Amino acid sequence: MNLGRFKRRIYTPYYTPIQELKRFSEALGGPKVFAKRDDLLGLSGGGNKTRKLEFLVADALDKGADTLVTCGAVQSNHCRLTLAAAVKEGLKCRLVLEERIPGSYDPNASGNNFLFRMLGVEAITVVPGGSDMMAEMKKIAREVESLGRQAYIVPGGGSNEIGSLGYVQCAQELQQQMFDYGMDFDYIVVPSGSGGTHAGFLVGVYGNNMNIPVLGVSVSRSTDVQIEKLYPLIKSVATHVGCPIPPMEKVIVYDEYVGEGYGRPTDGMKEAVQLLAQTEAILLDTVYTGKQMAGLIDLVRKGFFKPTDKVLFLHTGGAPSLYHYSKSVLPD
Ligand SMILES: *Cc1c(COP(=O)(O)O)cnc(C)c1O
Repeated sequence: MNLGRFKRRIYTPYYTPIQELKRFSEALGGPKVFAKRDDLLGLSGGGNKTRKLEFLVADALDKGADTLVTCGAVQSNHCRLTLAAAVKEGLKCRLVLEERIPGSYDPNASGNNFLFRMLGVEAITVVPGGSDMMAEMKKIAREVESLGRQAYIVPGGGSNEIGSLGYVQCAQELQQQMFDYGMDFDYIVVPSGSGGTHAGFLVGVYGNNMNIPVLGVSVSRSTDVQIEKLYPLIKSVATHVGCPIPPMEKVIVYDEYVGEGYGRPTDGMKEAVQLLAQTEAILLDTVYTGKQMAGLIDLVRKGFFKPTDKVLFLHTGGAPSLYHYSKSVLPD
């Protein structure tokens, strides 16, 4: 696929490593598990939004924007990284935070919230859970424009056909690494939230004929609702890059690891975060990758994989929020 024709800023001047998780795999007694370390992507604290922002910020600059406006949950990694990209480009950044759990916003909180202030956010607006986030961002954009400036709205999670190009590119990067190192994988496990990662990655894997099943682990929605959200995005990403649309049966979403909802801790998440930290010294987060890894662990225990399988876990980052959520993963 020719991604060279899309405008892009480069925030990670290297490929993220693929590492075998030997001690973790041994502890599980299942297949060989590997991680693609997208937690080591560029911009403050790394994580998957960095890949999306390479394309989104290029588009913003192309359109003459001087201010990025975006939204997320109160400990949003996406907001942290959008702000970081703005800083790097000399742009201003305003955030709209959705208080999905009532009372959960604390201006003095640690984790990403601390980084919002540290990186010099221009303004934060907090709105109640369930608000129309696009409408709220448009309000902020109008405010910015009333000051004679030019706003660019980055959608939630950076998940549109532009941001998702970052994960089409990730699939191509992975394919190149697999060739360079003589590696092959039987399955790839990805998180599925706002969907740009899952959608872009699937389009990349399918469009490059890699023939590896992509298993999505939902972090908030039921399988049906998540697929309803994902499939239109998959179609628009595939159309945008000009490659075939993956058929519906390639879209796999597990929803049994969500627990009580987005950001709510589960026992499986706690076990996953602790196990990876204590066998590989790799940090996951409680909202996304902890639940994604809980899914992988459960599939291993259910005998889903053959012992000879090689399973790649796409580590999308999130550890900066761990410092805020320490109590939901380790007892006092
Ligand atoms: C945003 C995020 C995800 C989910 O990615 P989507 O593209 O929104 O589905 C997964 N992991 C981390 C750490 C994230 O910040």
